[in-house]
Amino acid sequence: MKRTATSSASPHDVVVVGAGLIGLACAHAALREGLSVAIIDRDFEGDRASHGNAGGIAVSESTPISVPGLYFKAAKWLIDPLGPLRLSPAHLPRALPWFLAFNRVNRPQHYAAISHALAALNNRVYDDLLPVLDDLGMRNALYRRGALTVYETDAAFAADAREWAFKRELGVRWHALGVADLRTLEPALAPVFKHAVMLEDWAHLSDPRALVTQWRARVVALGATLIQGEAAQLDVLVGDAPAAVLAGGQRVAGRQIVVAGGAWSATLARSLGDRVLLDSERGYNTTLPAATAMLAREVIFAERKFVATPLDIGLRIGGAAEFAGLRAPPNYRRADALLALGRRFIPGMNEQGASRWMGHRPATPDSLPVIGRSPRANAVVYAFGHGHLGLTQSATTGALVADVLMRRTPRVDLAPYAISRFSR
Ligand SMILES: Cc1cc2nc3c(=O)[nH]c(=O)nc-3n(C[C@H](O)[C@H](O)[C@H](O)COP(=O)(O)OP(=O)(O)OC[C@H]3O[C@@H](n4cnc5c(N)ncnc54)[C@H](O)[C@@H]3O)c2cc1C
Repeated sequence: MKRTATSSASPHDVVVVGAGLIGLACAHAALREGLSVAIIDRDFEGDRASHGNAGGIAVSESTPISVPGLYFKAAKWLIDPLGPLRLSPAHLPRALPWFLAFNRVNRPQHYAAISHALAALNNRVYDDLLPVLDDLGMRNALYRRGALTVYETDAAFAADAREWAFKRELGVRWHALGVADLRTLEPALAPVFKHAVMLEDWAHLSDPRALVTQWRARVVALGATLIQGEAAQLDVLVGDAPAAVLAGGQRVAGRQIVVAGGAWSATLARSLGDRVLLDSERGYNTTLPAATAMLAREVIFAERKFVATPLDIGLRIGGAAEFAGLRAPPNYRRADALLALGRRFIPGMNEQGASRWMGHRPATPDSLPVIGRSPRANAVVYAFGHGHLGLTQSATTGALVADVLMRRTPRVDLAPYAISRFSR
C-alpha cells in the first residue's frame, strides 16, 4: 500500500478527503475517468461507519427518517434511556438547529419532494453498484434475497399502510406476506408476527468491512496515492492551487478536492463558509459469528426499530439513533439492549464470540446526502451526509461525483442535494 505523510509538489487532479465507502467510491470513479487521485485519511485502517454497518443495500428506504407522526412516537422513545432514540442533554444545544430542521421535513410538500430525491438515487443503485462489484471481483459478496419487514401488531401494520402505498409510487417493489409464508421463509423467527412485507429489491453484502478493504486495494492498484493525516482546512485562495491543509501544515494540492469525511465533513465545509446541518447519528450493533445461519435475509423489526442481517461474518443485530456528538464514549448498553430484543425475536441464537460496535452515521435532517460543488469554491465537491444509506448509495455517489468532476451533466439532477439548501 502506497502511503506518504508529506505534501505533494505537483497537484493531483483530485484530492479526496476521507477513505470510507463514499471517499473510496469517488476516488474509484475518478480514477476510472483517467484522473490522478490522492486520498487523505487520518487513519486508513481505523474504524469508521463504513466498516461496521448492517450491510443492507436498502434501496427501498426512499422516504426520509422524519416521517409524519414521528415526533409523537419519539417523545415516547426518549423516555426509555435505552430506547431506539436518545438525545444527550449535553449535546442538545448543538443539536437544536438540526432537530428544528428535522421537524420541518415531514410537512407534506417537503416530505414528497425529499422522497422523490431519495428515490432518484435509490432506484439506480444497482446500475452503479454492480459494475463496481464486478471491478472489485466481489459480485458474489452481494446476496439478492430481498428483506422482510415484520410486524407484531395489526395496528402498526395499518399505521404504515400509507407509507407503503407511497413507496410503491416511488418505485419500491414490495408485497405483503401471510404468516405461513413468513414461517417458511424465516423459520427461526419467534411465532409472534402478524404481518410481513417482502422488499424485493433489498440485498445485503457479505461483510461491509471487506468491501472497504477491497475497494481501497483497488484504488491503490489503479494508482491512487494514500496520504495519512488530518485535513484541518481547505485552502482555495484565488491564484493559488487549491489544497487540503493537514494539521501539521502540509498542503496537499489538487485541481479539485472532494470532501467525503462522513460525519466529520462539516468542519471542512465551514472552513469555506458553507453552512451545513450535519450530526452524528450514532448506531450500535452486536455481531454473532456462530448465529449467522439463523436467517436467510435481512429482517427489519418494525415496532422495535432494529434489524438483523445474516452477514458471512455473523448475524449482526443493531440499530438505534443516539445523538451525543462525535466525542462522547460509546454506551454499549445500547448494543446490549438491541441484542436482548434479538434474543426475544430470534430465540436460540448462539452468542459465542459476540462483538459490539458503535458507528457515526453522517446524518442530515432531511435524510438527503450532500452531493455537488461548493457555491463558494468551484474546485471543491461535496460527497457526505448519507445517514442510514451510505453503503447503499456509495457507488451511485461515486458515479455522480465523477460527472461533476468531469463537468458533464450529472445522470441525476443534483439540485436537491446541494449544500445551499442549508442556507435558505
Ligand atoms: C449501525 C449502523 C448501521 C448502518 N447500516 C447501513 C446499511 O445497512 N446500509 C447502508 O447503506 N448504510 C448503513 N449505515 C450507514 C453507512 O454506514 C454510512 O452512511 C457510511 O458508512 C458513511 O460512509 P462515509 O464514507 O461517508 O463515512 P465514514 O465511513 O465515517 O468514513 C469517513 C472517513 O473520513 C475520514 N475523515 C473524516 N474527516 C477527516 C479529515 N478532516 N481528515 C482526514 N480524514 C478524515 C475518517 O477517518 C473516515 O475514515 C449504517 C450506519 C450505522 C452506524
